[in-house]
Amino acid sequence: MPRPIRATISASALAHNLSVAGKHAGNAKVWAVIKANAYGHGLERAAKAFAAADGLAVLDFQEAARLRIAGITQPILMLEGIFKPSDVALLDKYALTPVFHSPAQVEMLRAATLASAIDVYVKVNSGMNRLGFSAETLGAAFNALREHPRVRQLTLMTHFADADGASGVKAQLDWFQEMTKSFSAPRSLANSAALLRFPEAHGDWVRPGIMLYGCSPFADRTAESLGLQPAMTLTTEIIATQHLQPGERIGYGFSYEAVGELRIGIIACGYADGYPRHAPTGTPVLVNGKRTRIVGRVSMDMITVDISEIPEATIGTPVTLWGEGLSADEVAASAGTLSYELLCALAPRVPVGEAP
Ligand SMILES: *Cc1c(COP(=O)(O)O)cnc(C)c1O
Repeated sequence: MPRPIRATISASALAHNLSVAGKHAGNAKVWAVIKANAYGHGLERAAKAFAAADGLAVLDFQEAARLRIAGITQPILMLEGIFKPSDVALLDKYALTPVFHSPAQVEMLRAATLASAIDVYVKVNSGMNRLGFSAETLGAAFNALREHPRVRQLTLMTHFADADGASGVKAQLDWFQEMTKSFSAPRSLANSAALLRFPEAHGDWVRPGIMLYGCSPFADRTAESLGLQPAMTLTTEIIATQHLQPGERIGYGFSYEAVGELRIGIIACGYADGYPRHAPTGTPVLVNGKRTRIVGRVSMDMITVDISEIPEATIGTPVTLWGEGLSADEVAASAGTLSYELLCALAPRVPVGEAP
């Protein structure tokens, strides 16, 4: 028998979350962001579930190629554009929409020949200071692209650094509008947080990612309260049990010591499966659908969980690490990270199946 761990992906939850995003988007069109193997959910599977999206956004040319080979015909946005001159040929081959964010990329395009016309996104640095043209470089790039004989539609784009946080989007939105006021082109601004929180920042194309997978972009709002459904459920089983007396300790570093008597379930999941190693004692877990906590240190292949109050728990009892019944947001918060990281970190050794 294989190890009992598996991830189950719900295509109906993915489609449901896309429709929630679509409702918030109103008249704006939706790029479903499926970079990083669709946040761990499987690229082709997610693309199929997002058939109703106006387009799909990725980073890797390999991912873009896989989508075309799978028969996907929607527009594909390359979020970081081209990386080297030979990538220009791939724009042609796979009919991709690149983001241009640097003068170097514009040069690569000018030096190459394109057989067919492409749409291009022009990324503006509105204050995040990661990618994008500055106030000094934007004009020349925009004009060079507008005059390129093979460039069809230009769209102006930016990305928000703190749409989920205290700063919000105002300063970046103001600066973006100031920088782009003399250019007439559609706009694409909003990630999940901005889509949900700032209708004034929707523009013409929104770019939700995390919400499509049923997680919340906000520390203080649950995914459930946003009407989202978890798309990935990570489950396993108890493979052994232990009965500890007061003072006995458990796991690497003996990091947890039983205060009273303690029943422990050993479950088949560890950091080599993508579970965060830094999740401390107290991180929630469901055993037989009942909420309990992990105790002691997460190992590579195993985690120890408190089953003292779950008398029926024994070898073979089902365990949910996150997903249906226990939000990945909550597990991530307990481990000092974000659901984004948990979902993306799902290890290749974990078998992934689709929910019936
Ligand atoms: C990843 C990404 C998104 C999606 O962000 P979420 O917070 O997951 O909604 C949108 N735009 C760009 C440029 C991205 O890189």
